[in-house]
Amino acid sequence: MIDTLYHLDPVTGLLDRSSTLLMAEELARRCTPDNPERPPPPRDPTGGRLGPLAVLWIDIDRFKQINDSLGHEIGDGVIATLAQRLRERLGGRGELGRMGADEFVCLAPGVRALQAEALAAELAQAIGQVLELADMVLRPTAGIGIALQQAGDSGIELLQRADLAKTASKRAGGNRVVVEGLGSGSWPDAQLQREELVIEQMLHEALADGGLTLHYQPIVDADGQVRVVEALMRCSNPAAPGPGRFIAVAEKTGLIVRLGEWTLMRGCAFARRMREADMPVKVAVNVSRTQLLDDQFSVALNAALLCTRVDARALELELTESLFMDISPSVQSSLAAARELGVGLAIDDFGTGYSCLANLKDIPATKLKLDRAFVSALPEDQRALAVVGAMTRLGQALGMTVTAEGAETQQQLELLWASGVDQVQGFAIAAPMPEEELLVWLRRRQEAT
Ligand code: C2E
Ligand code: MG
Ligand code: MG
Repeated sequence: MIDTLYHLDPVTGLLDRSSTLLMAEELARRCTPDNPERPPPPRDPTGGRLGPLAVLWIDIDRFKQINDSLGHEIGDGVIATLAQRLRERLGGRGELGRMGADEFVCLAPGVRALQAEALAAELAQAIGQVLELADMVLRPTAGIGIALQQAGDSGIELLQRADLAKTASKRAGGNRVVVEGLGSGSWPDAQLQREELVIEQMLHEALADGGLTLHYQPIVDADGQVRVVEALMRCSNPAAPGPGRFIAVAEKTGLIVRLGEWTLMRGCAFARRMREADMPVKVAVNVSRTQLLDDQFSVALNAALLCTRVDARALELELTESLFMDISPSVQSSLAAARELGVGLAIDDFGTGYSCLANLKDIPATKLKLDRAFVSALPEDQRALAVVGAMTRLGQALGMTVTAEGAETQQQLELLWASGVDQVQGFAIAAPMPEEELLVWLRRRQEAT
């Protein structure tokens, strides 16, 4: 289909940007979008009616990191390899173009919604094959946006919409496909997608009819005092999965923003309740990346503090470590604003994610929560214990309080205290419990000491 009108990108041998635009126009003219009133036309390889055109915009995740750290020459090599993989996988099913540094477009005639998602999954799989570079092994991922031709769409319009869908995919963290007009999903698996829709529906209902609650888990200081409890969300619908799963669905669908506002408000209200009961204990609330990226986050935080008349110092936000991998200016300013108010910031599940130690010194965090994985390896794994000790000293040297999560046995508790952590949380002390129960638990503990 390529003739002299079209120019190739020298690095990849794919259509260059302007030729991709031309090709999109040409294919959009020759393709026939579905008419809902009429059955779809059969695919005709002789150049007649081709069925609708699908445009897939592919953006390699974190390519900048490869380029910046390994140099442009290696970066170009990576791009050429990925282009080759795409070309091989696509075969004769469409055209490929390079739109910019690490962005590709696939123009696929005669492809409808479900086939387009399946094609995206295939291309993502091809990209994700192991890539060996110098002394590193990468598994590249990509964010993919899909636009599907409707009656009257030009090639350029389709490209613009695929680009928008791609941006949505990147905003949601990449490594996923977004079909225009639909929410984002991870690589399509019909069963999984249905399950997520059911969970999303459950969460909507729970938010509307009071089916959500917070349980609280005490965190103990080395002197035996409890100065903070962690709020953990629970859904009372017995069919609901655990929080790890439903929070992930809420993040994907954006529902986490509303759930998060609710949690901040409830958590602050409980901090106030404890203060009024003469138990001035802080509340730690988990906050996910999507919430922080929302420009209303600071408003929600202030509203929760003001409405409940709680001092900001009685609130702590727990942020997962992966958030700090790529911290945008807006997240940075939300965090700085929270710190300014006096809200504590904890880095949750530390040590198993992506944090770069160099970053750690620039994060305005007040607490480091060591991931449960280190604790559950105790007492057998002496190396895990050494890592706990080293991370504890690192955190403390940076002025942070260090908390170990997930202590389940007395022996683990003892090892943790001996390695110098400031706080411990885990079933060995207490499991998360409802408000009333926690108040009784705290009261009993107060009386015992
Ligand atoms: P997380 O913030 O790391 O919370 C600690 C998790 O470890 C909780 O699981 C807690 O019940 C569990 N845990 C505590 N002690 C032990 C122990 O000794 N052994 C074991 N095996 N587990 C222990 P949960 O409640 O299922 O929550 C899972 C995750 O869901 C949380 O991990 C947090 O990332 C997220 N999450 C929970 N509530 C919220 C929320 O309100 N907002 C957001 N954004 N995320 C939440
Ligand atoms: Mg947490
Ligand atoms: Mg944690």
